Amino acid sequence: MRRRDFLGLIGATFAGSIAQADELKHPDIWLTDEQKPVFNSVMKRLDMVEHTVGYAKFNLISFDETLKIANNFPKIGAFTPAEIAYIEEVFYTDPVIYGFYGKRTVETLSNVIPEKDVIKIEGSGHYVYRGHSQELLSRLMKDIGKTLILTSGVRGVMKQMILHMDKIKSENGNITVASRSLVPPAYSYHSVGDFDVGKRGWGHQNFTANFARTEEFWNLQKLSYVSMRYTIGNGDGVRFEPWHVKIV
Ligand SMILES: [Zn+2]
Repeated sequence: MRRRDFLGLIGATFAGSIAQADELKHPDIWLTDEQKPVFNSVMKRLDMVEHTVGYAKFNLISFDETLKIANNFPKIGAFTPAEIAYIEEVFYTDPVIYGFYGKRTVETLSNVIPEKDVIKIEGSGHYVYRGHSQELLSRLMKDIGKTLILTSGVRGVMKQMILHMDKIKSENGNITVASRSLVPPAYSYHSVGDFDVGKRGWGHQNFTANFARTEEFWNLQKLSYVSMRYTIGNGDGVRFEPWHVKIV
């Protein structure tokens, strides 16, 4: 069964027809002109919080902590009621309207990731959950070798929020298209245990379909204990992600 997840590679034509049907059902949704100023100010403030706490630490930071840090640093400044309302709206909106069908993984905006539950992976700037995720990552690294690296691990709500918003920005405001690759903040399996792997030294290429052509990917596929979250034609409406390892 798990092996079959991997072989989702074969379903390309099928995936194409799903995407087409989906376009008919849900026309793309764009950021409105009205939302743009608040969108930009939220991003700016989140960015400053990330710079203040550091890239690695920002992966774990909660909503409440984010508000507190913004309050405490005059350079950042408190989030305004309109900005908080926007964050709440993004978190609680059902993304089915964006053609995203995945399961909600985080119930409340104030969800906290206890630091004792995670472990930092040396040299990566990322964390994984202790227990099953950590064990699977070590096993993978041992079986595949030093060229396999962790490229993204545990992500709290705020980290997923900034990644999702960054993607909306780079898609020129198209929330539907953005949601296919950077899922909305309450829906990431990174918040509950999944992680991304890549090839050492490959940088951004690790997050493209090219990763499926690397030796590291093919070696991953040979391991019976590994399965991928987002195969081609996955029912969640997410693009093919050969780098994203399914844990939970
Ligand atoms: Zn991922």
